[in-house]
Amino acid sequence: MLWKTHNKLLFVSLLFVINSSFTWSQSELKIIDKRVNFGFRPTQNRNIDVVIIHSVYNASGGDKYNVDLVINQFSHYGVSSHYVIGRSGAIYQLVKEKDVAFQAGKSSLPDGRTNVNSCSIGIELITTKDSLDAPTKLQIKSLTALVKDIQSRYKIKYVLRHSDIAPGRKTDPWNMNWEDFLKTIEDKKSE
Ligand SMILES: [Zn+2]
Repeated sequence: MLWKTHNKLLFVSLLFVINSSFTWSQSELKIIDKRVNFGFRPTQNRNIDVVIIHSVYNASGGDKYNVDLVINQFSHYGVSSHYVIGRSGAIYQLVKEKDVAFQAGKSSLPDGRTNVNSCSIGIELITTKDSLDAPTKLQIKSLTALVKDIQSRYKIKYVLRHSDIAPGRKTDPWNMNWEDFLKTIEDKKSE
């Protein structure tokens, strides 16, 4: 009886070790699940080599920074990004990376490809167009960590702004120091 209990305990602790090491190796990022049922197309085996950075805020009344109101706004348009980063740096996942999210719209990449949604991961920063609402330090820190994590898992050719792929139509991400951000993700890559 005692032996059996001991064996069971050993088995349970072994499971715990396996489980915790698995979680650790997957990612050190804390991602909050906010999976949506619109704004994406379930996809098998797509090739991801682009990351697109956006800005968004709730323009429908109430708290302009509230992530649930931002998601509600997406639902009205049938669009979504894969991730949204809140003002506190919290990272929310709306769509699985393997699925195509409707975030880029009519746009084109520097190499001429136009079906941008099919090969990209979209990340939205909650900011308004007001320069006083520029991305917070915590948002940039989370964005950097998330992009680095994506770069470690896929061979990423481009990290671009929405305004880079849809000039004249899109101006986001707003009030972001893009050159500094690019330097940060490139610096860390060579570490
Ligand atoms: Zn955008």
